[in-house]
Amino acid sequence: MITELSLSELRGGLRRGELTSAEIVSAFRDAYLADAKKEEPLGAYVEFFDDSVALAERADEARRAGEADAPLLGLPIAVKDNILVKGRALTCASRMLRGFTAPYSSTVIDRLLAAGMIPLGRTNMDEFAMGSSCEYSCYGPARNPADRTRTPGGSSGGSAAAVAGGLAPVALGSETGGSVRLPASFCGLYGLKPSYGSLSRYGLVAFGSSLDQIGLLGRSPEDLAVVFAAAAGRDPRDETSAATDFPAARAVLDGAELPARDFRGLKIAVPREFVPEGLEAEVSAVFDRFVRWARSRGAFVEIIDLPILEASVAIYYILAAAEASSNLARYDGVRYGLRAKEAGTLFEMYERTRSEGFGEEVRRRILIGNFVLSSGYYDAYYKKAQAVRALLLREVARVLAEHELILSPTAPTPAFKLGSKVRDPLAMYLSDVYTTFANLALLPSLSLPAGLSREGLPIGVQLTGRRFAEETLLSCAETWRREGGGG
Ligand code: GLN
Repeated sequence: MITELSLSELRGGLRRGELTSAEIVSAFRDAYLADAKKEEPLGAYVEFFDDSVALAERADEARRAGEADAPLLGLPIAVKDNILVKGRALTCASRMLRGFTAPYSSTVIDRLLAAGMIPLGRTNMDEFAMGSSCEYSCYGPARNPADRTRTPGGSSGGSAAAVAGGLAPVALGSETGGSVRLPASFCGLYGLKPSYGSLSRYGLVAFGSSLDQIGLLGRSPEDLAVVFAAAAGRDPRDETSAATDFPAARAVLDGAELPARDFRGLKIAVPREFVPEGLEAEVSAVFDRFVRWARSRGAFVEIIDLPILEASVAIYYILAAAEASSNLARYDGVRYGLRAKEAGTLFEMYERTRSEGFGEEVRRRILIGNFVLSSGYYDAYYKKAQAVRALLLREVARVLAEHELILSPTAPTPAFKLGSKVRDPLAMYLSDVYTTFANLALLPSLSLPAGLSREGLPIGVQLTGRRFAEETLLSCAETWRREGGGG
């Protein structure tokens, strides 16, 4: 069935003339429409683009006319609702941006469109990407295809539900602190957070600018490699984007196979702090099985001490909130989307717009951010968190000088029940214990599907590498996909 194929398989089908782009896109659209009629729909999309099939037909015409030199011509991708696609609505799943239309496309979208890809629709998310369960969305939650009473993870939950539920072959998500890897883990997908700087942030709605990256969700490492290669590279519009070249990923885009990495001699560090005594038994069992597999393939897996990792969630929630409070100051009722009516004064208009437009979690982050940045608390919280981040960067770099990978579970549990953490922000934040350090340290990190719980819930394992070593992560994941299985 078309909706079960990977992007690379669909690409092969197109190239061999066994499939048309219109057939592919129609299959995903039909799956979306059928799902929407279910009692508990996945809620993966906030909008499925009506014209996607027409765009696919145009791609088919180009292919028939022999103009098929765009490497991903006619292949569809789902796009998180915080990545700008020119002329389309964009809301970040917030009432605040109701009625907003993207005036330009993000660089990543521009490049994927130039490569021939077709955006299928906008995917559901936590409001402004703040959350770990996709429940803080003004549209209501997305659901986990493996068990619809559970979360697909967040904040890129809609993107993960779309790919895992057969409503898209691949999807763009975004990461500030785990928002691609956590949903990948909960939904049984491969999810890549690139190094800070690998993908341009131009046209990604800002949350925590020193942490944000666009990320990718898919069914195979190869699919991630292809989209990554098409999107990566220096962008003059984002001064933090890097000019790094990814020749192996580019070769995959050009038609080569993604090479699997030989694990013989590969040095892997497992931080003791990330495999605590109390780790949930099923997560622990899946993780141990992965470690045994890696060792059986010749890797040296060493348990190390890296106590600073225990500070990562705390630092993350201070810095991300501080940056968010500043980035979200622009939603003032004047320039974007919502404006409260019946306000007597300008200040009242600001106040009402922001109170009506933002949901509870976003307001909480803005308050925390303003608090840690305010005089008297700046030194105690913001400045200290910055200092600890610098220390974490150094300590992690020290480990990665000796080891090629840091290995851990992606999340402390499999997907939890919808409703079980929404009223307990701290419990929600703790879903991010293993993911945030990679954002803080600017490193590439990948979640791969490593197994299932007894109830059939996916459990992920996370590989984190040296900065700009995305290809190492993808190749190691490919070795696992070929040999280890995948859950
Ligand atoms: N759970 C993280 C948060 O709520 C996820 C952020 C993200 O990666 N976008 O901040």
